[in-house]
Parts: sequence; structure tokens; C-alpha cells
Amino acid sequence: MIVGIDAGGTLIKVAYTEKGKVHFEKYPIAEIERVAGWVNGLGDCQVCVTGGKSGVLVSLLDQPAQEMVEFEATHLGVQVLLKEMDLLEDAYLVTNVGTGTSIHCIQDNVQERLGGTGVGGGTLIGLSHLLTGVTRYDEIVALASQGSRDRIDLKVKHIYEGKEPPISGELTASNFGQDLFSISSDLTKEELLATVIGLVGETVSTVSVQAARQCRSSTIVYIGSSFIDNPLLKEVVKSYTILRGSVPVFPDNGEFSGAMGAMSVLNKKTV
Ligand code: ATP
Ligand code: MG
Repeated sequence: MIVGIDAGGTLIKVAYTEKGKVHFEKYPIAEIERVAGWVNGLGDCQVCVTGGKSGVLVSLLDQPAQEMVEFEATHLGVQVLLKEMDLLEDAYLVTNVGTGTSIHCIQDNVQERLGGTGVGGGTLIGLSHLLTGVTRYDEIVALASQGSRDRIDLKVKHIYEGKEPPISGELTASNFGQDLFSISSDLTKEELLATVIGLVGETVSTVSVQAARQCRSSTIVYIGSSFIDNPLLKEVVKSYTILRGSVPVFPDNGEFSGAMGAMSVLNKKTV
């Protein structure tokens, strides 16, 4: 068996090939010992590990494992996914919205990190919890999809009252920027959570389209577990990216890019 594991700040992503078929699984990082136990119980297998917690995982394994730099593993995994979708180009950007957000430019098979932002999936969960008390990711996302940002976000048109704004009045001028003091106790969880997702999505896509100026492509491939079952975040990121003239791509299984990249290195070795 061939196993690729991406142990990130929040989730462990596992990709493995068994009898020619690829399987994907994910676990909270708190279950790292369980994942190590599963690998240790496999017996004869090859393992490649990546991600910020890869050192911790390797220390829990009985057998030696290959370790790989996270950005290289992610780049390889994204390549595989784009090839499957017939969308592989010579140049593109990758924005990985994990716990935090990391942005990369790939040109002629060379990957360069352009930057990132601390606003990411961790912000989504953390701010959501602080504002509403909701803890579970799936609950946050489900409630947010029923909420409206209208009473909380300040739009450009709200500032340019009675006057034509120089940019689209529908753009957000300030996330959470409306006069909230009088209505704060009246706001629903759904409204607050939708606005948190708006903040994360707009920040991530703003930084990505700006980074695209340093890359010869305007295709932005968005990956990371923050998009899992999260149509609202996808929609915010998609519409803002298109508005700014870039092309968003959301590959299926994008959150497994690092794990797939790690696994593909082992695949190459066995061929
Ligand atoms: P990093 O790459 O920054 O080290 P990571 O690899 O752990 O972190 P991802 O797994 O790509 O990051 O994304 C983590 C985010 O995915 C969380 O912050 C959360 O917003 C979202 N998420 C999706 N599903 C879950 C889940 N079941 N439990 C917790 N968070 C989830
Ligand atoms: Mg990650």
C-alpha cells in the first residue's frame, strides 16, 4: 500500500492507494495518534508525510517515512487534480485556504510562494465561535448559508449617499462596518456567520487577485478544507475573483492536494 499524509494545523488529510484505487480520509489533528496507529497497523507499506505537523506524525510511526516540503507536495497534488480536469496550464496560482492562507505562483513547473494572509479557515471557525458560540464547522457553515450580510457589512453605496460612487456601489467598503451598536443584540447567528464567511472570502480573494499581478497567469486554483461543503465561501471567492478579472477554479478533492502530492512521489518511485 502507498500512503500520503498531510498533517496540517487543523486537519490530517490521508490519501492512499489500495489495489489500484485511491482513497481519501480526514481526521482532526487531535487524532494524530490514531492516524499513526492506523499506519503502524498496515504492515508492509510506503509512507510519505507532509504538512506542519509531519514531524510529530513521523515521531509516532514505527517505520521510517519519507518527509516532503508542504509547498512542493501541494504543487504536485494540484497538478494531478488539474490534469484530471483537463485544466492544466503552464502557469497558474494556487491559494490554499487552510487554517491560514498561503498563495503560490506556478510557472513552467516551478513553484514560488508569493505570500498569504492569516485570515483563513481558522479565522472562520474562531471568529464564528466568539460571535455566536457555535463550535462545529458543519453547523457554522449551514447556519451561515441562511444568513444575510446586509445589516452588518458597509457597502460603498452606503458611504456615497446621493452621489455616484467611483467604483461599484455593491462592493464591500467595510466588513462588519455598519453602525452595529444599536442593533448588536438583535443580530441573528445566521447573519453574523454569513458575515464572517464574507470577511474570510473577500480577504482571501482580494489578496489572491493582487498576487496574480506577480504571476503570468490569472487563473487562481483555490484549495483547502475551508471550501468543504461551504458553498457560501465558494460563492464569495468566485464572484470577487471574477469581478477582478481573474479565473477561479475549485478542484474536487482540492483539500487532499498535499496528501496526493506526497503519495504521488511514492508512486513515481515504484513505477
Ligand atoms: P494549515 O495548512 O494552515 O496548516 P490545515 O492543513 O489543517 O492547516 P485545512 O485542512 O486545509 O488546513 O483547512 C482547515 C479548515 O477547514 C478549518 O480551519 C475549517 O475552517 C475547515 N474545516 C472543514 N472541515 C472541517 C472539520 N470537519 N473540522 C474542522 N474544520 C474544518
Ligand atoms: Mg494544509
